[in-house]
Amino acid sequence: MPATFYRVECQECGSRQKIFSRPASEIDCNVCSETIAEPSGGQAELESELIEELAPE
Ligand SMILES: [Zn+2]
Repeated sequence: MPATFYRVECQECGSRQKIFSRPASEIDCNVCSETIAEPSGGQAELESELIEELAPE
């Protein structure tokens, strides 16, 4: 399965950012440092709202 990226919206501050769908470690919001995704069996477990899936670049 090809790796993809997710565009997610932080539930805390509403800022959007692109994250890897299979992160190796916890990902924090660029703006408010809230956790927006955690690794879970290879896939990201989102703590934020998924806006869209993006194809690999
Ligand atoms: Zn935020």
